[in-house]
Amino acid sequence: RVVVGTKVDQNHVNWVTAYNMLTGIRFTVSRTNAKMDRDLTDADFDAKHKFSFDITGNELTPSAKYDFKFKDYAPWVFRHLRSTFKLDPADYLVSLTSKYILSELGSPGKSGSFFYFSRDYKYIIKTIHHAEHKFLRMILKDYYNHVQANPNTLLSQFYGLHRVKIPYGRKIHFVVMNNLFPPHRDIHRTFDLKGSTIGRDFKEEDLEENPRATLKDLNWLRRDQHLEFGPTKKKAFIEQMQKDVKLLQRLRIMDYSLLIGIHDLERGNEENLRDKTLQVFQPGGEEASEPQPNLLMRTPSKLESARKAKELRQMIKTQKPVPMDQTTSKMPDELQDPKSNFYFYADDGGFRATHENELPGDEIYYLGIIDCLTHYSLIKRLEHFVKGLMNTESQISAIPPERYGDRFVKFISGVTKTKEAAEREQAEETAN
Ligand code: ATP
Ligand code: CA
Ligand code: CA
Repeated sequence: RVVVGTKVDQNHVNWVTAYNMLTGIRFTVSRTNAKMDRDLTDADFDAKHKFSFDITGNELTPSAKYDFKFKDYAPWVFRHLRSTFKLDPADYLVSLTSKYILSELGSPGKSGSFFYFSRDYKYIIKTIHHAEHKFLRMILKDYYNHVQANPNTLLSQFYGLHRVKIPYGRKIHFVVMNNLFPPHRDIHRTFDLKGSTIGRDFKEEDLEENPRATLKDLNWLRRDQHLEFGPTKKKAFIEQMQKDVKLLQRLRIMDYSLLIGIHDLERGNEENLRDKTLQVFQPGGEEASEPQPNLLMRTPSKLESARKAKELRQMIKTQKPVPMDQTTSKMPDELQDPKSNFYFYADDGGFRATHENELPGDEIYYLGIIDCLTHYSLIKRLEHFVKGLMNTESQISAIPPERYGDRFVKFISGVTKTKEAAEREQAEETAN
């Protein structure tokens, strides 16, 4: 899959969709956040609210550039989730809606999902299949409870679930979630690991043309790569992964993977792709070769963000009183990065390698379990479909969720070892 980020501006084919998504988020999130906080009820998990936007506006919704319908799902649950994940409400709105610019990682992969990055690269909007949408609503309570019990979960952090529809257009469901990768650091190598080897190979010779491609299990093994965590971090990481996978197994989820972005501290940000990419995206410029999406956007200045955040806070305030703990009078640069509160994202947004003696290593891993909305029945259905098309016994074996999870944990645990441990094992092997 070719992965190229493109700025979504007024000339982009998906501009209207992106604009409507962000307008809907802005309206519904500030609407919910304007109210006094309260405990969740069972009804909150099933709640859905529909809004019509048009160019004139009405007593409920403000005027918008385009006519569209927007549906907001379980807004109170997601408000509480955002708070569990320590997002500042005003900051969230600024990131997602200050100026309608996103970057699109068009993903005509198997799933057909599209990915949009917020302008500051903190959030990802992923369009999801209707089946995934229904499934998320069904498991929302289990997910919510899991996150309350495991704030350090490695699973994707979901911040919102919405649907947008333009007149005569189809319904587009989407989630807002955390971007695992940092805005300020180059990711030198990306892997997507499932613990399976069938078809899990990115052709190494294509790397030249596509140096930022996402590599897979076989590439990982071939390179003898490890997640280099000393005893303390290894224990915490594996224990959390086991808990997360237990949930996925219980919910009969399949096909998820561990996404790992590696930042090599010795290389640092030396490549300075930011400037290069900006050139690539000059109007009339050549096609981008393989820029990282984080490099495509102008980062808003601190002052600009601060001003916007203040405006939004004002906006939230003037609607209804907001309890003190939900507002903040701090400037963004005084705000702590919410990620620093979470064990696996505390080292500059990621999780730094350690040696056997617990001293820090040379790499920062940006990692998490992604693509976790595929229910086993859906895989079965797809597999059936593919088998029918090819009219052969299929190569792909959709193993049941129980085994999928065990294999996943086994693989990831097996490659979690320090440099020292790996070298020792190597020496033992050659000695034998
Ligand atoms: P498929 O079902 O074919 O695997 P998909 O459309 O469901 O694809 P994902 O597997 O969710 O897509 O993600 C595809 C790619 O998008 C990942 O390999 C990764 O490069 C990027 N990506 C997805 N989620 C995140 C995230 N939370 N943070 C950073 N990058 C992400
Ligand atoms: Ca996937
Ligand atoms: Ca998928």
